[in-house]
Amino acid sequence: MVYDIFIFGQEVLRHKAQPVAAVTPEIRKLVRDMLDTMYDAPGVGLAAEQIGREEALCVIDVPANAEIPACVASNAAITMPLILINPVITATAGQQRGEEGCLSFPDISAPITRPMQVTVAYLDLEGRAQTATAQGLLARAILHETDHLNGVLLVDRMSAIQRLAVAGKLKRMQQEAAQGAHRR
Ligand SMILES: [Zn+2]
Repeated sequence: MVYDIFIFGQEVLRHKAQPVAAVTPEIRKLVRDMLDTMYDAPGVGLAAEQIGREEALCVIDVPANAEIPACVASNAAITMPLILINPVITATAGQQRGEEGCLSFPDISAPITRPMQVTVAYLDLEGRAQTATAQGLLARAILHETDHLNGVLLVDRMSAIQRLAVAGKLKRMQQEAAQGAHRR
């Protein structure tokens, strides 16, 4: 099932996600629906708030052909799609700057500085504790989606000058959101 995607201005995007207590069949169904929604958009990541939910849960699929070439080999151990339940960033290293967008900010992207490498602890779909260390675009996606689960959005990572450049678009989005509009 493909959900409507909430856009900037809608209150739920500012909520802090609630930890998933147990990986139930309902959570697995939610994951399937979030994957359907992400692939339909299409996007490389989706957090629960973006479909109006508050579970601490995000889905990511960065195809190897979209990855920074130098990071493909080091990310190879991580199977896509990557489902992160109750993710916590436990370590970061390095720095990268690259164009970043968000399904909740249609038509907006900006160069954003992020760590080059991230280690994340999470539960998998079987409820087992896992950790993964990723680099490049996959690291960026993990950081972006865990931001969402903390109510932190792309706009918060932009500089004042970058925000000014898209101020008109942001305002229009907020007005549409106030009228209950979704991405589709
Ligand atoms: Zn996003």
